[in-house]
Amino acid sequence: MEDNRSTFSSVLTLALAHALDHLSPDDHRPVNAPASLATLRQRLDLPLNEAGMGPKVVLNDLVSGVDGGIIDSAGGRFYGWVIGGSLPAALAADWLTSTWDQNAGLFACSPAAAVVEETAGRWLKELLHLPTSASFAFVTGAQMAHTTCLAAARHALLARNHWDVEQNGLSGSPTIRILTSTEKHGTVNRAVRLLGLGEKNITTLPADPDGRLSEESLRQALEAEPTTPTIVVLQAGDLNLGAFDNFATLIPLAKKHNAWVHVDGAFGLWAAASPSLRHLLEGVEAADSWVVDGHKWLNVPYDSGYAFVADRAAHRASFAYHATYLTHDENNARDQMDWNPEFSRRARAFATYAAIRQLGISGVTDLIDRTCTHANAIVTRIGALPNAEILGTPQINQGLLRFHHPNPEATEQDHDAFTNRVIAEILATGEAFFTGTTWRGLRAMRVSVCNWQTSSTDVNRVCRCVSKVLEKMSANERTN
Ligand SMILES: *Cc1c(COP(=O)(O)O)cnc(C)c1O
Repeated sequence: MEDNRSTFSSVLTLALAHALDHLSPDDHRPVNAPASLATLRQRLDLPLNEAGMGPKVVLNDLVSGVDGGIIDSAGGRFYGWVIGGSLPAALAADWLTSTWDQNAGLFACSPAAAVVEETAGRWLKELLHLPTSASFAFVTGAQMAHTTCLAAARHALLARNHWDVEQNGLSGSPTIRILTSTEKHGTVNRAVRLLGLGEKNITTLPADPDGRLSEESLRQALEAEPTTPTIVVLQAGDLNLGAFDNFATLIPLAKKHNAWVHVDGAFGLWAAASPSLRHLLEGVEAADSWVVDGHKWLNVPYDSGYAFVADRAAHRASFAYHATYLTHDENNARDQMDWNPEFSRRARAFATYAAIRQLGISGVTDLIDRTCTHANAIVTRIGALPNAEILGTPQINQGLLRFHHPNPEATEQDHDAFTNRVIAEILATGEAFFTGTTWRGLRAMRVSVCNWQTSSTDVNRVCRCVSKVLEKMSANERTN
């Protein structure tokens, strides 16, 4: 045993050293991953080894193999997609989660994991101002949270039509339609596919100029088919503008027509934790199910997403399965598999529990407000530069910028191409990381600030970098 202990000790000490190398602030480390695909394959795509090797050799080889292929999304100058970093307590708890290696499927497999999860679930509902009676599941991300919530929706809507979907499947069942807006996230489609609901049963309704689902078109769609079982998918925080649907109006409307209302709040639901932003979510608590990620704005390591369902019975009926060899309900303990698509799984609630404890209510509020302030500063300062245009001023932590080709005769296509080149050029500096998108037919650079580490110093540095890139590229274009 002493031997195993010293093996663990030497390899974990080595891992700690590598981790600290990665996490320590380094002004010169590029945010992008400059190594090419060919280089990474050449280093990592090795022949399968016949003989084993020492764990320290494995670790050192891995670290040198991935060099230049790790995007610094853990740091403060990364603004791509919607990706958060890791809070220190959450990261450390995540390490311990692997160390303890608990199977979080059942209370019996890990009593502590089950209790930590039920506690973290309660805390999340409190932070997000969701009904305390809602059930929940800790899943890999919003994708599986959609799948979990929509499975509960499928159960409830078909049960009302005297159809037992768990027993009968969908063949021969009433068709469920899904009404949502053009701004919905692609993970909704994938959940619909996985659940056998069929993508062709999704109707995308128009959004207004602010990215909010139009009330009139929802009303018409609901009234057109009053008896079709319906799921209405609303959004709290879309990827482009961070738009929030008008919950206070749309949820009562959908409920009046007996629809199940599901809310995609992958990052936007966190606005509930900020008193100055909470008004954006007014009325959201009346929905039937909600999705939010931990690995985005809460800064919990991947993979961490949460599903909440108002109708606990529908949620449980979709997942609970009692085989004779399983031990259930000992002193009313919560068995996670009754609420989750997975059975054996990582005890991922430990990291969430630690993140929330580290921040407290005030720390979560501060994280949300601070990142919004930084997003606003980046968008307004870059937007004020020559040849830059603000397409979307952040109302939370997401904004859109577009860059104009300096030629006075330039077309929108020229601006599209120029915007793409500016994004690529910023990336190539290694100073900051932004991603592009096409928004209402226009190429744009997304600004998304989710990382707890982003500081005013980072914001200054990034704005300086973009200013220099834009100035140089505009000058080049003029002389060409
Ligand atoms: C990121 C995101 C998702 C998908 O979340 P995953 O955690 O990647 O599965 C869904 N909806 C919105 C609005 C998102 O931003």
